[in-house]
Amino acid sequence: MARVYNFSAGPAVLPESVLKEAAAEMLDYQGTGMSVMEMSHRSAAFKRIIEDAEADLRDLMNIPDNYKVLFLQGGATLQFAGIPMNLMTGSGKADYIVSGSWSKKAFKEAALLGNARCVASSEDKTFSYIPDVDTLELDPEADYVYICENETIYGTHYHKLPDTGDVPLVSDVSSCFLSEPIDVSKYGVIYGGVQKNIGPAGVVIVIVREDLLKDEWLENTPTIMRWKAQAEGDSMVNTPPCYGIYICGKVFKWIKAQGGLEGMKKINEAKAKLLYDYLDSTGFYTATAEEKDRSIMNVPFVTGDADLDAKFVAEAKTAGIENIKGHRSVGGMRASIYNAMPIEGVQALVDFMKRFERENA
Ligand SMILES: *Cc1c(COP(=O)(O)O)cnc(C)c1O
Repeated sequence: MARVYNFSAGPAVLPESVLKEAAAEMLDYQGTGMSVMEMSHRSAAFKRIIEDAEADLRDLMNIPDNYKVLFLQGGATLQFAGIPMNLMTGSGKADYIVSGSWSKKAFKEAALLGNARCVASSEDKTFSYIPDVDTLELDPEADYVYICENETIYGTHYHKLPDTGDVPLVSDVSSCFLSEPIDVSKYGVIYGGVQKNIGPAGVVIVIVREDLLKDEWLENTPTIMRWKAQAEGDSMVNTPPCYGIYICGKVFKWIKAQGGLEGMKKINEAKAKLLYDYLDSTGFYTATAEEKDRSIMNVPFVTGDADLDAKFVAEAKTAGIENIKGHRSVGGMRASIYNAMPIEGVQALVDFMKRFERENA
């Protein structure tokens, strides 16, 4: 068996021990004589799986009691619509900070449904930075302020949150979920697709403050999109993505074993430092995100020569480095170094980068 170092932005690398456990339980989950894939979502065994997953997530993130945790389907993208459907029910207005492709998509979706306003954008410099959160002119009447906390494609991250006063802050954390501790109480809604840092594609986790679960929705909002209905139905308005939730639960336990989010943060910072220190020490490669806004999860870099970049991507494969090609809107390379990427993988990447530099400089 040959496992590669998988730097994919998502779906992405998962902890090997989790995959092995899942393999061992594939045919007979804990004496039930069936796979989790084959079991009723109303069964006692699955009930325990989803309840344990929620309890472990609450524990890891220190989620206050006045927040609900929902395990839903449709990825982060379906919630681009779900957010306005559930929250644009007061003034009908919302402020969006557009810091990359994902927040731009979310903004466009909300603008289809209501009065969404882009209050700041970093598109002028190919989203290489996070707009200054101290100079925003936010609408105090807005139903929410929206950010994408880690822009997966551009490798930028909010190191300071906007002060939204009494207006709830909604954050897409898809690509930085559980990578470091956060203060949940600062947010109205935290949500993310799990396939970047937590589990298989198909699950999106929504953590929502209870007072935002109202009996009001935008007109024609389908039942399955209503957070309150999902909260009341324990995320089972219909059959939930059972197998995906089961894997998420295993990853939560794995993160606990790494020392929780504090432990995860230390490991992630060490990995990111290894890569950024090298990038900053060489004139051969350039990291494309502004230094002050750098992500420790996604690290885009270029040589400045598209042909050389293509050669890098092709030759990296021979060193067991996969999915290192950058997004087409940035070009070059992108190393996604999520929780489950071991530091050995980052070291292998840096070693290869050094060799490639020697051979091509
Ligand atoms: C990948 C990603 C999305 C989209 O996720 P889907 O599950 O494919 O809908 C949204 N936001 C961010 C930040 C992402 O990285």
